[in-house]
Amino acid sequence: TCLKGRVIRSQGLNSVVQAEDGHRFDCTVRRLVRTMARDDRNAVVAGDHVLIRPDGDENQAVIERVEPRRSYLSRGSKRREHILVSNIDQAVIVVSADDPPLKPSLIDRFLISSEKGNIHSIICINKIDLVDPVEFQPLIGVYAQMGYDIVLTSVVDGTGIGRLRSLLKEKQTVFSGQSGVGKSSLLNQIDSRLSLETAEISQENRKGRHTTRSAVLLEIASGGWVVDTPGIRQLELWDVIPEEVEGFFREFHAFVPQCRFPDCSHTHEADCGVKRAVANDFISRQRYQSYLKIIAGDEPRPVYHQT
Ligand code: GDP
Ligand code: ZN
Repeated sequence: TCLKGRVIRSQGLNSVVQAEDGHRFDCTVRRLVRTMARDDRNAVVAGDHVLIRPDGDENQAVIERVEPRRSYLSRGSKRREHILVSNIDQAVIVVSADDPPLKPSLIDRFLISSEKGNIHSIICINKIDLVDPVEFQPLIGVYAQMGYDIVLTSVVDGTGIGRLRSLLKEKQTVFSGQSGVGKSSLLNQIDSRLSLETAEISQENRKGRHTTRSAVLLEIASGGWVVDTPGIRQLELWDVIPEEVEGFFREFHAFVPQCRFPDCSHTHEADCGVKRAVANDFISRQRYQSYLKIIAGDEPRPVYHQT
């Protein structure tokens, strides 16, 4: 008799699997499952949906089967890829309204990564208590018009936490964003049992901490799972080539056919439909500026993959 479960962490060939009834098992991996993965490290990863066979001993089981991965997040080259976590449903892109100040192009870079991996994005502007929210209305308008969920939050006064919590229900979510924007604080606010390390604590614990840790799934009391890993918090990989970038700026699409040159990069060319749309306020100037920055290729780069 096999049970269905979800891998909540995996280190080498040892994994912890939570069965559907909430019971946790320490698992090893059936040899057949290992030989099907090209690399032992990728045989079973956090986020995998698996079938396990309990092993007599109450908390021991063997992973008999790994269901096909809907999506995964990895690092390394295609040939020597290391899969960090699988089956991600959505990404919450966290930026802070201030401290550090908000850079819209950062939102756009994370959006591109999610879109490329076919991962739904939610934009979260945290630390809204530090600013006048009215200031952010134009920016919110830009993204809301493109169809993104956008939430303003504050860990200090509780703004938006309930809304964020409900967006996480029944989903497996990765939080991305620069360090210091408040990702850990937000998660602790959403479910206090998570007790993630925030800036204040890690300052004290910096010495003697493991620098490499694998991904861990955390269950939220109100429903849903979040991925916790330092590797995902500060993504610096990227596999989007400049020619692809335009495709991820969805509001450009209607204007590209109006460019005189079919290979127009919308930078220096004459008679460019995109630049005309920016001049006429059909495309936000801020989004166009990000586009230019991103194709110039001088910023850090996250990456998601779709299987
Ligand atoms: P992470 O690196 O993204 O996980 O960020 P942390 O959760 O460690 O938070 C970084 C700093 O920002 C900490 O000093 C937090 O106390 C502070 N912080 C987090 N959220 C808020 C917020 O909503 N408002 C304010 N004013 N400070 C916040
Ligand atoms: Zn053009």
